[in-house]
Amino acid sequence: MLEIHQFPCLSDNYGYLVHDPASGQTTCIDTPDADEYLNQAQTKGWTITHIWNTHWHPDHAGGNDAIKAATGCIVIAPAEVERIAKPDQVIAHGDTVSLGAFTADVIDVGGHTNGHIAFHIPEASVAFVGDAVFALGCGRMFEGTPEQFWASLERIKALPSQTMLYCAHEYTQANAKFAMHADPENSALADYAAEIERKRATGTPTVPTRLERELATNPFLRADNPALMAKWGGQTPIETFAALRAGKDNF
Ligand SMILES: [Zn+2]
Repeated sequence: MLEIHQFPCLSDNYGYLVHDPASGQTTCIDTPDADEYLNQAQTKGWTITHIWNTHWHPDHAGGNDAIKAATGCIVIAPAEVERIAKPDQVIAHGDTVSLGAFTADVIDVGGHTNGHIAFHIPEASVAFVGDAVFALGCGRMFEGTPEQFWASLERIKALPSQTMLYCAHEYTQANAKFAMHADPENSALADYAAEIERKRATGTPTVPTRLERELATNPFLRADNPALMAKWGGQTPIETFAALRAGKDNF
């Protein structure tokens, strides 16, 4: 069985180490903080063999070189990561990567950055989605277009609904406030927002989140919902997504 170790990093990132006990292989999902990753791996008694990057931002790939220098691990990343550290292997949509006997499908989720990818491991019902989608939110659209970002979110929406989404930040409380503003009639969202308040009051992580719940509550995944389209003035899901994204940016 795949083991996932989650820990806070920097101010609001989550670090993930994914370990396959059968092969002994361990991959870092992104590298916000090299020292923290090395310490956490040592505490778990795991040897880092790989780094899988989701996108090039320094709070995701900034620790690549230091972790590689310390462990000799293999860095597997989308081409855009070359901006800050040269990967050993460049991957893109449709590729697969292995951790022991587990296989991750590489999915294009561009929009936050153009080359952003996600790693979906069907056998474990998990997906590492970086800054493409968050609990009740999605990443800021720094490089992509609404068309591109919506197509990326549709690929995430199409994953099995029981998939656990491992997002890279604890942004959920702020996201919930905007989601309630965006979709005030949604009772499933109101319940979810109340649960988030309780969890954050005790410092409990709200990540990972199950896709099924996000499909019912996350306004950015629901830009094709007729009520949201009417409220946000979009004629199409892409227009509605763009209006929601701009609304959140200015909220
Ligand atoms: Zn980012």
